[in-house]
Amino acid sequence: MRYIARVSSHDADGDWSTRHSVLTMARRTAALVNALAEDRPGSDRLAEVLRAYGEKGPVDLTARDVARMREVADRLREVFAAEHADEAAVTLNRLLGGHTGPLRLTSHGGGTPWHPHLDRDDDAPWDEWFLASSCLALTVLLWDRQLPPGRLCASAACRNVFITQGPGPERRYCSRRCATRERVAAHRRARSAPPRG
Ligand SMILES: [Zn+2]
Repeated sequence: MRYIARVSSHDADGDWSTRHSVLTMARRTAALVNALAEDRPGSDRLAEVLRAYGEKGPVDLTARDVARMREVADRLREVFAAEHADEAAVTLNRLLGGHTGPLRLTSHGGGTPWHPHLDRDDDAPWDEWFLASSCLALTVLLWDRQLPPGRLCASAACRNVFITQGPGPERRYCSRRCATRERVAAHRRARSAPPRG
């Protein structure tokens, strides 16, 4: 069943290239890192995130899978914490060297177009898949733009990571919610500050 869960077949509406783009893979990484940072995320919560990023089949995640994916999320968080491309590249190289297999192509038995994977085989455990697919997407984004692929939310009240690359203006916060909360807080601080001079 893991095979089905890991493979998304073509959609009738033909959005395959969108769902499987590097940017979508990287955004899925950020969403999983954030979900895994929540207090005791269950397998249901992770399955919800995976489905939001195109998984079609049943998602069978055991408590052990979730625990191991949390460890992977902590490792990946370091890539998002890097402030410069050099730092992000060193962190990615460490992960690639120690935790992923060689680059290979798979079509999941003909169910998808050929695409690259870094996990050892199509039935690799979830944590191995999570780390390998994340490293692949983040590496390609760094290569493409020569910038860190993502960052930590600038709000001290938020632990989320997010992908900085893609269309739209550069942002400091993971979400509109965080940006609004910080803007309101800054406004309050400015109003309550004693007048100068
Ligand atoms: Zn945030």
